[in-house]
Amino acid sequence: MKIPFVSFKAMEQELNADIRNAFERVFENSWYIGGKEDEAFEKAFADYCNVKYCVGTGNGLDALVLLLKAFGIGEGDEVIVPSNTFIATALAVTYVGATPVFVEPFLETFNINPEKIVKKITSKTKAIIPVHLYGQPCDMDTIMDIAKSHKLYVIEDCAQAHGATYKGKVVGSFGDAAGFSFYPGKNLGALGDAGAIVTNNEEIANKVRALGNYGSDYKYHHIYKGNNSRLDELQAAFLLAKLPHMNRMNEERRRIADRYLSEIKNPNVILPTIIDDVVPVWHIFGVRCGERDRLEKYLNEHGIGTNKHYPIPMHLQECYRDLGIEKGEFPIAEEISNTELSLPMYYGMSDDEIGYVVEILNCY
Ligand SMILES: *Cc1c(COP(=O)(O)O)cnc(C)c1O
Repeated sequence: MKIPFVSFKAMEQELNADIRNAFERVFENSWYIGGKEDEAFEKAFADYCNVKYCVGTGNGLDALVLLLKAFGIGEGDEVIVPSNTFIATALAVTYVGATPVFVEPFLETFNINPEKIVKKITSKTKAIIPVHLYGQPCDMDTIMDIAKSHKLYVIEDCAQAHGATYKGKVVGSFGDAAGFSFYPGKNLGALGDAGAIVTNNEEIANKVRALGNYGSDYKYHHIYKGNNSRLDELQAAFLLAKLPHMNRMNEERRRIADRYLSEIKNPNVILPTIIDDVVPVWHIFGVRCGERDRLEKYLNEHGIGTNKHYPIPMHLQECYRDLGIEKGEFPIAEEISNTELSLPMYYGMSDDEIGYVVEILNCY
């Protein structure tokens, strides 16, 4: 049996007509940036996230960059980010001229450890960016308490967690604002690059919209030195077509994860831990294994696609050499980089396919 790490086939087949209709609508309308589809998607996604405002952006990285700028974060400021995340979280901080300060995650959940946040707060700290990594929400009550007592902004990085809940509330509605990515592989994916911010803060929403539109509040009037990062009308139409199906597709990912969690029984394979009060959306199903590369080779040889999230922690990336962080300073992030292996996880995996992954893993 051949099982890819990810496949869009089932989604594409089911939504074929909806996607084509979305394209037709935009093409008929002959309006390609900032039109009806954009407006409708922003409204639908704000409603979905239970917040007042959503502003589309060109991608998820820009969503975070524009939010940091809107909150006035820049040179001389520090922003706390997890030591284990996709590089975009840290790059967003770097792009606005601030310094990313890494905080270790829990090895068991892969998510940022709030106790360790407190130790990294200085007089320069302006914000925390918790990342709901792999689709599991962070411990938001504790993070919000810390932020309140130290007067820090919280910008949630929800790029991997569309629709995940913590104590019954969807992520993106806890912090001062949140950034989302609609990169095709994300739980809500466009057919190209796309992103958005959500917030209850009207001023921040307006500022992000202006900053992503050449700093313009109305045509040819520029209040900020902004850039160009808007959500395409076509991508908005695709996202609007896909949004009503997202909960069902996330539910299917949970069904796959539940089977992995209950049926994978191999002392060499450590399963992820889920904290109380959360409903994850399993953007990634990551296990850990001491001999990760050997396990990966074994699975690949049996036709099972895998991936690593992420093979090099940020503090050891070439681009962050200037931070002068030595190997060994973030042992948990390094341990995750060395041991994490992501199993196939996508809408449309059949029972037989899930069973095959389980069987092959249990024979390792
Ligand atoms: C994908 C991702 C981003 C960036 O999103 P893009 O749309 O690719 O720019 C940011 N943070 C995390 C955690 C991500 O997984």
